[in-house]
Amino acid sequence: STCLLWMRRDLRLHDHPALHRARAEFDVVVPVFVLDDALLHGRYASSPRARFLFGCLRSLDEQLRERGSGLVLRRGAPEHELPKLAEDVGARAVLWTSDVSPYALRRDAAVTAALNERGVRAVPNTGTYARDVSKVRKADGDAFTVFTPYWKTWERLAAREVVEAPRALAPLPAGLDRGELPGAGVQLPAPVCEPGEPAAREALRRWLDGPVDRYADRHDTLAGGTSILSPYLRWGCLSARECEVRARGRATPGADAWVRQLAWRDFYASVLLEHPENVRREFQPKFRSLAWHDDADALDAWKRGETGFPIVDAGMRQLAATGWMHNRARMVVGSFLTKDLHLDWRAGERHFASLLLDGEPAQNNGNWQWIASTGVDPAPYFRRIFNPMIQQQKFDPDGAYVRRWVPELAAVPANRLAEPWTMTEAEQREARCAIGLDYPAPIVDHADERKRAMDRYREASASV
Ligand code: FAD
Repeated sequence: STCLLWMRRDLRLHDHPALHRARAEFDVVVPVFVLDDALLHGRYASSPRARFLFGCLRSLDEQLRERGSGLVLRRGAPEHELPKLAEDVGARAVLWTSDVSPYALRRDAAVTAALNERGVRAVPNTGTYARDVSKVRKADGDAFTVFTPYWKTWERLAAREVVEAPRALAPLPAGLDRGELPGAGVQLPAPVCEPGEPAAREALRRWLDGPVDRYADRHDTLAGGTSILSPYLRWGCLSARECEVRARGRATPGADAWVRQLAWRDFYASVLLEHPENVRREFQPKFRSLAWHDDADALDAWKRGETGFPIVDAGMRQLAATGWMHNRARMVVGSFLTKDLHLDWRAGERHFASLLLDGEPAQNNGNWQWIASTGVDPAPYFRRIFNPMIQQQKFDPDGAYVRRWVPELAAVPANRLAEPWTMTEAEQREARCAIGLDYPAPIVDHADERKRAMDRYREASASV
């Protein structure tokens, strides 16, 4: 008997529950990826991410071929393409790894209905997150909205065993049209990582071979300290569950702290699953009336990394060049957008989604609402107004990050690097960096904007 394995963001062979099950229950497994125009060109489209995806698909195809099979590509709406392919190969079931975004849920419901109409079984499986996120719940069955209690329950919940990658697979049905990848999107100047499972496994091996042990102390260091595995987790080139199990094997405080971050990823997935409306509006009703400014020039300066605040500009330029940004920088640029420029967090979320290789609705939305203080996070808004100068001094004390991404500031003396506008004329000449000419003067005054942000948030809170 034959089944389809509909692959989406589970582009791996190791620790793949749906693949494991497909092989156990069927003689022939036909792996298929559907290039869905709604995703490639819709609201969440991103050329750099599409290019990364195509790289992952090429690599997956190679691995499948090495094992005697191959990847089938189709282009169009999954609810049309999958029933057609199932009929062509005589498949009795379609297996996949389930997902949580509102789009994915709608799409999967449409596919299920279309398959069932033709007597084909639709079989969703776990495998995108370290736990089955629909199952991590309070004793009374309600979903969590606060991370720490979620984390405690998450840790205690029995999780599935890691499963091996298959050594060999049955060949694809003879004569089947395999389809082709279209031309890829925009290439980044210096992508942060190579696409595909083999590159992902090598990066994980290197990370777990030592650096992870220093994670607890170094994760906030802007010029390094984190795994940069998020694009692989986003596309499922790595299984979060396998990452967790292997990290736990280190039994170091660093590895434990890192596993906790994997739980954050699960947490935001469960928040979106429970509150799909978050993709459009603030989780906290009182902040739905927040007054956002409308300033295209300020938004542009932020996007280009020309705000005059070195740490903000470094983060935005790292994103544009590599498709990735350090988490600390994401928080700093997010705070700056929403609380110094007073621009709508949704504009930031959209810009991130258009560039991040790891961009995905659950994490992007959860974190943007966190930094905008509109989300599930119980901390009051004034705790999340970041001072860019202090952040830079704390998390990039030697200036390595800023100097790398903002080369105009390469020769600025260390004691001026967080506030280059305070350089004397002589210092500017010496550093070959004229403020307002080689590098922008700050577009706002942080102390003033902080006060305005406090007023805006206070007003919105009081209006309820
Ligand atoms: P590590 O520090 O090595 O952490 C390991 C893994 O844990 C990450 O790969 C990631 O999967 C998960 N993780 C770590 N921190 C978080 C977090 N705060 N929330 C959720 N998961 C986390 N992450 C995304 O994967 N996609 C996004 O679209 C995204 N958008 C963000 C937007 C903003 C405004 C902010 C502040 C954060 C966002 N993050 C997002 C979370 C975080 O910045 C990235 O996951 C992290 O920087 C990835 O780098 P890393 O792999 O080196 O992480």
